[in-house]
Amino acid sequence: MEFQFYWLLLLPLFFGLGWLAARMDLRQLLSESRALPSAYFKGLNFLINEQPDQAIEALSEVAQSHQQTTELHFTLGSLFRRRGELDRATRTHQMLLDRSDLPNDQRVAALHELAQDYLKAGVLDRAESLFLELKGTDFETSASHFLREIYVSEKEWGKAIEVAKKQTGLNASKLLNRDISHYLCELAALDYSHGKAMQADQYIDQALEMNPRCVRASILRGESHFKEGRVKDALKEWLQIEKQNPDYLFLITPSVFSAYKELGQPDIGLKLLQDWLIQYPSLELLSQVYQATIEHQGPDAALALAKHEFYNSPTLPALSKYLEAQINVLGSVHHLATHDSGPLVHNTDRSDLELTQKLVHAQVQKQALFICHHCGFKARQFHWNCPACGHWESYSPRRDTDSEDMASSLVRM
Ligand SMILES: [Zn+2]
Repeated sequence: MEFQFYWLLLLPLFFGLGWLAARMDLRQLLSESRALPSAYFKGLNFLINEQPDQAIEALSEVAQSHQQTTELHFTLGSLFRRRGELDRATRTHQMLLDRSDLPNDQRVAALHELAQDYLKAGVLDRAESLFLELKGTDFETSASHFLREIYVSEKEWGKAIEVAKKQTGLNASKLLNRDISHYLCELAALDYSHGKAMQADQYIDQALEMNPRCVRASILRGESHFKEGRVKDALKEWLQIEKQNPDYLFLITPSVFSAYKELGQPDIGLKLLQDWLIQYPSLELLSQVYQATIEHQGPDAALALAKHEFYNSPTLPALSKYLEAQINVLGSVHHLATHDSGPLVHNTDRSDLELTQKLVHAQVQKQALFICHHCGFKARQFHWNCPACGHWESYSPRRDTDSEDMASSLVRM
């Protein structure tokens, strides 16, 4: 095609159209940027100032007038969930998923959010199916974590093991192996309770393979043997715990003493328990060994033990036990005396001691708690699985966490 000079006449027209288009775009951009930042930053400001109600209000306003702002919808959905407004969270994330123009990475992110909404709302089957859809995406690891949470809460131990083992394949970790050993212990406990000892024993073997330091597995198999009258086998299982983790010995101390009594060897049993108390002193062990001593050797021997412990480690729990031991000895002396020539001990001495012991014991009960390392939840009973945060073995096996506070309160007394 040859160049025609009259085409030059069209040049000013093209310039003019270009200028007009640029102006229109600029005007639109300016109007958008004027509308978005004021409300948007107002919302952010509320967020920073921890005023989520006002933040939600401001950001919802922006989201309504700017339907295309996907990030804002994600933020809002997450805020709704955190506030417990699960209907609104679910609606926001579902709305995002319904958009046909949503890029795949954001669609997957919205699915991940929606699954968490259903999980928090307790609609577990719906949450499970959505998390399963995330297999093979960037959210697979996170989804596996939530899936395990669902299976554990529904006590579907087999499925929990399956998911955890896949995670182990991706990222071998001691913590995962520890959790799997607990799921296997749950299965074993169930089978032991239904009289299926052989199947249960296999779960115990697997648990110990996963985690050789799984104290719970040794406790469970020992209990099963003891019930079957296999006392020596039970002891063999329980005595392994000293090597696995001696801090957990308090969980089987009374059972170990019963086993030795059953074998006609209470002296050997008591000596072992007293050695444990010397090597691994704790509030629990003191209480249990004191009980075994008073039962087998009488109040005087128990008083000597409690006195030694208190002088060795002057804490409030040791003082409580020491006072209790003194009251027991006074009680036995009083009992003998009333059958002889009259009371040797004044009743007022004993009631003073009892009152003091009662006060000290109440303080110990108040302070001596098992504490979850993960969430800080405090409990009077020991739990393998934290009832508050669901973590396994997050409870310290010792209630001595507050012992320093107790000792210092004792010094101030
Ligand atoms: Zn916890």
